[in-house]
Amino acid sequence: MPIYEYECQKCGKRFEALVSMSAKENPPCPMCNSRKSRKKMSITASSKGGCGSCAISSSCSSKGFS
Ligand SMILES: [Zn+2]
Repeated sequence: MPIYEYECQKCGKRFEALVSMSAKENPPCPMCNSRKSRKKMSITASSKGGCGSCAISSSCSSKGFS
């Protein structure tokens, strides 16, 4: 399950959450419980140093996937 970073649109709090692929709603903000959170770049994907345009997908051609 991927970890996503969210930024709350109400109070500006940034938080991380494990989100299943089937989840349709954003996780609530731990500070104000608002669901008006914006999903940011996946932390797990960015830490691998992908090519950027396809960090979520594992089919990145620049990494030698066939
Ligand atoms: Zn908040």
